[in-house]
Amino acid sequence: MKFLDEAKVYIRSGDGGAGSVSFLREKFREFGGPDGGDGGKGGDVVVECVDGLNTLIDYRFQQHFKARTGMHGMGRNRHGFNGEDAILKVPVGTQVFDEEGETMIADMTRVGQRIVLLKGGNGGFGNAHFKTSTNRAPRHANPGQEGVEAWIWLRLKLIADAGLVGLPNAGKSTFLAATSAAKPKIADYPFTTLTPGLGVVSVDARTFVLADIPGLIEGASEGLGLGDRFLGHVERCRTLIHLVDGTQEDVAEAYNVVRGELEAYGAGLEDKPEILCLNKCDALSEEERKEKAKALKKAAGRGSTVHLISGVTGEGISAILHLAADAIAAANAAEKAESEAPEEEEGWRP
Ligand code: GDP
Ligand code: MG
Repeated sequence: MKFLDEAKVYIRSGDGGAGSVSFLREKFREFGGPDGGDGGKGGDVVVECVDGLNTLIDYRFQQHFKARTGMHGMGRNRHGFNGEDAILKVPVGTQVFDEEGETMIADMTRVGQRIVLLKGGNGGFGNAHFKTSTNRAPRHANPGQEGVEAWIWLRLKLIADAGLVGLPNAGKSTFLAATSAAKPKIADYPFTTLTPGLGVVSVDARTFVLADIPGLIEGASEGLGLGDRFLGHVERCRTLIHLVDGTQEDVAEAYNVVRGELEAYGAGLEDKPEILCLNKCDALSEEERKEKAKALKKAAGRGSTVHLISGVTGEGISAILHLAADAIAAANAAEKAESEAPEEEEGWRP
């Protein structure tokens, strides 16, 4: 299964600065020699693996990365400054491919890893460099070497932070389309989504990856339904957004079927925090809203909250996204704290 976030990016390393032609001229020194300094090196294009990113979404906004040109050399043997590198910051798990998308150039697996994709051009030699015993006043210098350019692909295997669950037709694809840049197919029949849609959702300054887990039906955990192939993906999620179609007769039954599936699958799925939504509320009367929400709350048990939403009108959606982002942040923080906690030491005993 492929859950890919990818971006095609143009990169170019910096040209080297030109060497300088210059001669020393001082009032009391008669034969000043050549003193043109070398040009600076052009900047490299570097890919760097950083913490705190989980998608390549930034590369939808910026696709061109050019390193800076090296400065020209100057008289009195002054070397030009090197051009600044262009740095592509990517999340852990990003792979860099060539333009054809076939050859892997870099595999970014840990934070802090840096790989030079294109080297900047060398600076040209200044005329001081060309002084020989026979030519003591060379009048030429090298131009800087040109930078190089390339198109590359960045690819990231996405890991969903939140999963959408619900019966076929609950409105998962619609919800995903309304909240993210993904454009899943939507139709009025079950199993529209044959591969899970993945979307990158932005809430305030936070982003998370939302996966539409299609066709989670009875028996899916035994490999009967389409859902089974996707449950593995849900396992990694921090939180579930459970959509129940408010327009159907028995919302409690719909809820229980999906809960039953999660439990049957095991692997801790049933323990994940669940944000429970009564969906398609735009199609319900005030009376129906109350009645269905009440039935759903009863099915979900004490302490549960039922959110009334509509993927079509957008009602209640932003609150859901905030809750999901909070749950993801909390789970990430808890995991980080756990991995950083010092090993418990044995107390000293006589
Ligand atoms: P999925 O199977 O869970 O992915 O459900 P879809 O998103 O494909 O939606 C199934 C059907 O329900 C489609 O005909 C949608 O137009 C409709 N639908 C989805 N969300 C809403 C909603 O919020 N309100 C209404 N009235 N219809 C919706
Ligand atoms: Mg769907």
